[in-house]
Amino acid sequence: MSLDLLAIAAHPDDVEQTCGGTLIKMAEAGYRTGVLDLTAGDMGTRGTPEQRLAESELAARQMLVGWRGNMRFPDARLQNDLGARMSLAVKIRELKPRVVIIPYWEARHPDHYRAGELAYEACFLAGLKKLDDYTEPHRPSKVLYSSLYANVTPSFVVDISAQFERRMAALLSYRSQYGAVEEGSGLFPAEQEIRERLAAIARFYGNLIGARYGEPFVIRETLRVDDVVSMGVRSF
Ligand SMILES: [Zn+2]
Repeated sequence: MSLDLLAIAAHPDDVEQTCGGTLIKMAEAGYRTGVLDLTAGDMGTRGTPEQRLAESELAARQMLVGWRGNMRFPDARLQNDLGARMSLAVKIRELKPRVVIIPYWEARHPDHYRAGELAYEACFLAGLKKLDDYTEPHRPSKVLYSSLYANVTPSFVVDISAQFERRMAALLSYRSQYGAVEEGSGLFPAEQEIRERLAAIARFYGNLIGARYGEPFVIRETLRVDDVVSMGVRSF
């Protein structure tokens, strides 16, 4: 397989909140997109891993992604160890993404920042010729960091105004997480609350680029500009 864009995240339902709009937008533009979740959320209060995996397939269809997989690493105790790095590196060699989206390096949940670190190191390993005898070396050319909870200053923002509702529908595919269920209520936001919260966040970042809804990204490299006369986002 050879993907243009692959989003790697700790839990099913993470990409639906951080970069789902961008995945939809890139699929609409004709790119081959994919999602690789590292855990199946087996430590979650609500639902079973099998439920979440089934829900993640429904969400994948909403986000128009051509491929979605799950590494089934242990949830809530994700480790960046050699075994995990090697498995993930081999998967990256199989999927051959040109660009990856991985979690930002600061987060409240340890799985989130660890997933970012693990994914970054696996991308590096994936490019080593002698990693294994069965897969070809492949290293993504670009790493984009996405974040939901960390208060990041984005390197750039993608306008997802036209994709916001589809992204919301993808997130609400996780009925075990966001449905109005008695058990565990109080821990998870109900549908109306999550809709308002995500709309507020997307509205905030959209506002930074003069759009209704946006998704923020951080890159470590400097963005190159060749034409300073026709740059987007007005100053006044
Ligand atoms: Zn998560």
